Amino acid sequence: MSDTIFSKIIDREIDADIVHEDEHCLAFRDVNPQAPMHILVIPKKPIEMLARAEADDQALLGHLMLTARQIAADQGYGEAFRLVMNNGAAVGQSVFHLHLHVLGGREFSWPPG
Ligand code: AMP
Repeated sequence: MSDTIFSKIIDREIDADIVHEDEHCLAFRDVNPQAPMHILVIPKKPIEMLARAEADDQALLGHLMLTARQIAADQGYGEAFRLVMNNGAAVGQSVFHLHLHVLGGREFSWPPG
C-alpha cells in the first residue's frame, strides 16, 4: 500500500487536529466537516480499505468501533452519532487508508446519499 495523507498524519509529517491517540489508532477532525462533529478514526496499521482487512485484524476493527463510540461520548454526542466507512472509490472513498467517519450534531437522513 502506498503512502497516503493519513500515514503522513500518523507520522506527524502534516498537521491534524488530533483528538485521540493510542497504540493502535489515531483520531482527528475531518478537514472538511460534514457535521458539527466529524472525526476520523484510523488504524495506525495501513489497511487500504475494509475489503483488504484480514481475519487477524478483527480485534483492531473492534477497537476502532469502540474508540469511535468513546470519542462520540467525549464530544457530547454519545446517544446520537453516525458511523460511516466508505469502501472503494465507487462509493466515495477518497483516501485509501481505512477510516471510520464519526458524525454527529445534526439530523441525518436515511437512506444515505
Ligand atoms: P473518504 O472520502 O471516505 O475517503 O474520506 C476521506 C476524508 O478525509 C474526507 O472527509 C476528507 O475531508 C478528509 N481529509 C482529507 N485530507 C484530510 C486532512 N489532511 N486532514 C483531515 N481530514 C482530511
